[in-house]
Amino acid sequence: MYPRLTLKQNRHKPVTNRHPWIFSGAIAKVDQVNGGDVVDVINAGGQFIARGIYNSRSQIACRIFTWKDEPINADFFRRRIQEAVQRRGPELPATCRLINSENDLLPGLIADVYSGFLVVQFLSLGMEVRKEMIVQQLNALIRPEAAGWQGIFERSDAGARAKEGLLPQTGLLAGEEPPPLLEIEENGLRFLVDVRRGHKTGFYLDQRENRKATTPLISARQNGDILNVFSYTGAFGVYAARAEPSARIANVDASEEALDLARKNFELNGVLSQGEFLAGNAFDALRLFRDQGRTFDFIILDPPKFAFSRSGLNSALRGYKDLNLLAFKLLKQNGYLVTFSCSGLVSPDLFQKVVFEASADAGRPAQILKKLGHPSDHPVLLSFPEGEYLKGLILKVVE
Ligand code: SAH
Repeated sequence: MYPRLTLKQNRHKPVTNRHPWIFSGAIAKVDQVNGGDVVDVINAGGQFIARGIYNSRSQIACRIFTWKDEPINADFFRRRIQEAVQRRGPELPATCRLINSENDLLPGLIADVYSGFLVVQFLSLGMEVRKEMIVQQLNALIRPEAAGWQGIFERSDAGARAKEGLLPQTGLLAGEEPPPLLEIEENGLRFLVDVRRGHKTGFYLDQRENRKATTPLISARQNGDILNVFSYTGAFGVYAARAEPSARIANVDASEEALDLARKNFELNGVLSQGEFLAGNAFDALRLFRDQGRTFDFIILDPPKFAFSRSGLNSALRGYKDLNLLAFKLLKQNGYLVTFSCSGLVSPDLFQKVVFEASADAGRPAQILKKLGHPSDHPVLLSFPEGEYLKGLILKVVE
């Protein structure tokens, strides 16, 4: 028996349907507890419905860890971590997401493996106060699994920490310090990753399968002029260059640092001469290309998250529309557009609608060749639509 968190009348349904968050507005009363403590979630009728971890400083006042009457202790976390590792297949891939937070029933914990290093984010108070124990469990479990196991590095510097009342924290947690640049392999290509300072845990692992999905379309084209907008460290561009030796790839990103690494990644894969690297605002770059009359056979748009709150949704949708409109106008006849949104608040249907509006306004009708989403190492809990943030479309202009 843990201290009790009692829900208001008629507010238990999402919880019993396995949604892992309880917002403060749904709570009738809470026993005397500290942030990070385990609580039993009780419906208005006084019955136990779930068990979670409480944080009065977050709007998500309780994150559910189990719907069974079982203790939430070190053994519980060991089992959950082990299950997440097993879900990644019989052999642990050298580079992949190992733990995907709520979607692996470990709310607030992200863990990515990069060639012998584990890079972790503790994004909820419940995880933060259990860090030492979780690191011990990870270390003990992964060590025999991962070839060349070297260490665990913390990258708890995501914006989500502030919403939990936590300060950013980064540094070594176990084993050896990762080198300034780590080399990983993805679909036979090589990439340098800065796990200490790169975005997220260093690399957009969630785009692995989507990058691969673009290559058959690129290799079918001759002398392709390819535009990789929001290129970060050039991953989509390297795939394109390797798929078609005659393709030229213009990579655009606001970050000079990311572009430096993009250049290195092109070099590492022997395709530096195919790359162009342009630092600047993507919207400005697209307008400049329009004014110069420069057009492309293939455009990739992989912008950062635009929608952070419901109140900001409309302006985010305008951003997606403008971006896609500009891109459609830069496409050559029969050109391809691969377009993404990683805003959890924008559903796949809504995103498709905005892209349709952009196509209609640009006068560039298009076909959907493929819908893109999460790879299986970034599972989405069916009862947690918020977990499905990444969506994309491969489109072909048909005129
Ligand atoms: N496609 C990349 C990931 C893109 S992440 C990959 O596969 O690895 C989004 C990128 O957009 C980041 O690198 C960020 O630096 C860049 N960015 C954010 N705002 C931007 C803007 N206004 N103009 C250009 N780049 C921007």
